[in-house]
Amino acid sequence: MISNRTGKVPKTEIRKIEQPPYVVDQSKLRRFNSKNTVFDRVMGDSSWEGYMRMYDEKILRTISEGKSGYSRVDFALAYASWIVHDAFEGGFSWKKIKPYKISVDTVGIDWTKTKYEVDDPYRMSIFIKRAARLFGASLVGVCKLNRDWVYADVDVPEKFENAIVMAVEMDADGIATSPAAPAAAATGVGYSKMAFILAGVGEFVRNLGYEAIQCGNDTALSIPLGIDAGLGELGRNGLLITPQYGPRVRLCKILTDLPLEPDKPVEFGVKEFCKKCKLCAEHCEAGAISMDDEPSFEVVCRSNNPGALKWYVNVERCYLYWCENAVDCSTCIKVCPYNVASAGKANISAKEFWESNVK
Ligand code: SF4
Ligand code: SF4
Repeated sequence: MISNRTGKVPKTEIRKIEQPPYVVDQSKLRRFNSKNTVFDRVMGDSSWEGYMRMYDEKILRTISEGKSGYSRVDFALAYASWIVHDAFEGGFSWKKIKPYKISVDTVGIDWTKTKYEVDDPYRMSIFIKRAARLFGASLVGVCKLNRDWVYADVDVPEKFENAIVMAVEMDADGIATSPAAPAAAATGVGYSKMAFILAGVGEFVRNLGYEAIQCGNDTALSIPLGIDAGLGELGRNGLLITPQYGPRVRLCKILTDLPLEPDKPVEFGVKEFCKKCKLCAEHCEAGAISMDDEPSFEVVCRSNNPGALKWYVNVERCYLYWCENAVDCSTCIKVCPYNVASAGKANISAKEFWESNVK
């Protein structure tokens, strides 16, 4: 049973503000090198315990143990969920791809080469948001691209001034089974949906004569961009907390030279709520989330980016727990009261998951 130790339902009435609600120390802030992400370090950091360890290393043994939520069926779903993300070439492309033999590039006139004249960036932002919703984004916001959030080892030309940041809601029932495999399936479906949405919105931008860099977790840090674009605030769990779904979202973004009007950042009291709540830290099996009352500038592992005032998450421990668990985890999402407020549940069994939404 997960109880909300604050005894309070978090408030989600937003207040639009002029500056993003994070505190940075510019003397410490550095652009993050993507080689320091845990996933890159799995392949490239031989000094780390997680080097060359994949979290399917214990999958066969785990299946044989017969635990609920860790069956062959559960893992089959979790691995199926990533297929569009992993296999669809158009998802994370920086350029137009030519998937068809007959296209505007090969027959007739190419009406997409000239730039559509944008005399009202606000209206263009409306068009972009409507298109993003059509393609399946649950939330969309726009911000100026703050270069501090672009990975140090990625070159994004100066003309890409704007970021379209999109959030994709993850399946509430799936997440409520974490750390079991259906939660990982909800995550993987989120990533696969991202690929579809990015391809559609990116192509919409290109058909207007502008450029689009379609990104998932690559190229730039999604969470501060999501904050800049007014999608939410940073939580103790290191994730973007949205008023609508809490942290139960995946994030993706398109960097573009299309003229757009930025949204304002928002505030709805997350930092103050997190100071007392601590549920994510209490339930994290890896002990990866800080129990400190106050956020700080102290990093806790090499995969943290210094310079922001926050509760730094030990993502090394998190990843090593995934290896033990044989699949990734979303417990810090499922227990968060901001998730429970929208999902209506914090915890269900894999059996309940498989029997839900089935006539
Ligand atoms: S994903 Fe799981 S292991 Fe990682 S920080 Fe969240 S609760 Fe902890
Ligand atoms: S991020 Fe953690 S501390 Fe903050 S509200 Fe969610 S569960 Fe509570």
